[in-house]
Amino acid sequence: MKLLVTGGAGYIGSVVTALLLDSGHEVVVLDDLSTGHAEAVPPGATFVQGRVQDKAAELLTPDAGFDGVLHFAAFISVGESVKQPERYWDNNVAGTLTLLSAMRSAGVRRLIFSSTGTVHGDLETLPIAEDAPVGPLNPYAASKLAVDYALDGEAAAHGLGAVSLRYFNASGALLRSDGTAYGERHDPETHLIPIVLQVAAGKREKLPLYGDDYATPDGTCVRDYIHVADLASAHLLALESVKPGERRVYNLGNGNGYSNLQVVEAVRKVTGAPVPVEIAPRRPGDIVAQVASSQRARAELGWHPQRADLHDIVSDAWDFYRRAF
Ligand code: UDP
Repeated sequence: MKLLVTGGAGYIGSVVTALLLDSGHEVVVLDDLSTGHAEAVPPGATFVQGRVQDKAAELLTPDAGFDGVLHFAAFISVGESVKQPERYWDNNVAGTLTLLSAMRSAGVRRLIFSSTGTVHGDLETLPIAEDAPVGPLNPYAASKLAVDYALDGEAAAHGLGAVSLRYFNASGALLRSDGTAYGERHDPETHLIPIVLQVAAGKREKLPLYGDDYATPDGTCVRDYIHVADLASAHLLALESVKPGERRVYNLGNGNGYSNLQVVEAVRKVTGAPVPVEIAPRRPGDIVAQVASSQRARAELGWHPQRADLHDIVSDAWDFYRRAF
């Protein structure tokens, strides 16, 4: 297939692009490099620098022959979204509406969309399946849910085949036998595993651990970490199976909850570093515990995560960290 990957210079987008190229697809990456890195675009992809809002219609012409779009380009920082919600509505929602309009005009009928498990907010009942209630706790999650709703209508009214993949906590890196590697390089970094790795590497003195008095077994928040290569494989399965007019949603995680302290312990084991921790106040808007049920993806897509163990996820993230920094 000929595919447009928006955000293909970012973390998950670059990993998916690498796997799409391995599978023989032709890939055009569109990325404005506001958070991505040009050198993360896998060789073999055509790279176009620009915003989705500005370039989607230019690229997706009826003659260009695109078979589908994988849409990763978005702002992803929860804290920033609380302070500057307008940027999230503009980039994540208005940007996607522009993309949908261009796809409609060009007759491109396959879309894989990066949604998020955080659309579910804080739920008592775990694990979280796709039909669990939604209740976004911040503008970032709300912007992703808004697009999910837009895709419902686009599929029903205009025949788009649209799959929303609701990621839980993506981590790890794609490490390949030819020595190339694709991983997480946010600046500033806000996610737990890469921050703990920075502490292990001596780049930060201590981990600020946001809250240790939650109603969880050790008092710290619980997340479901999923290896980025496993996440990527779900994109390929979804792309290959979605039909025009179909609308699907999949929650993607491993179904295992790890507390923040368990993550710190895993990093200590993998790196051999002591990793000092300082208990800090709770982070506003934090979800207490999130664990995915991915039964639907397993049953319908035949998806089988290969690196579900937290030790493997942290170990690959550490391997990438040492190469990249
Ligand atoms: N966290 C922390 N210290 C940090 C960064 C994150 O204690 O420096 C905690 C955060 O409060 C949350 C968990 O780690 O409980 C996972 O946070 P992350 O931002 O990685 O993912 P998300 O909140 O989006 O699930």
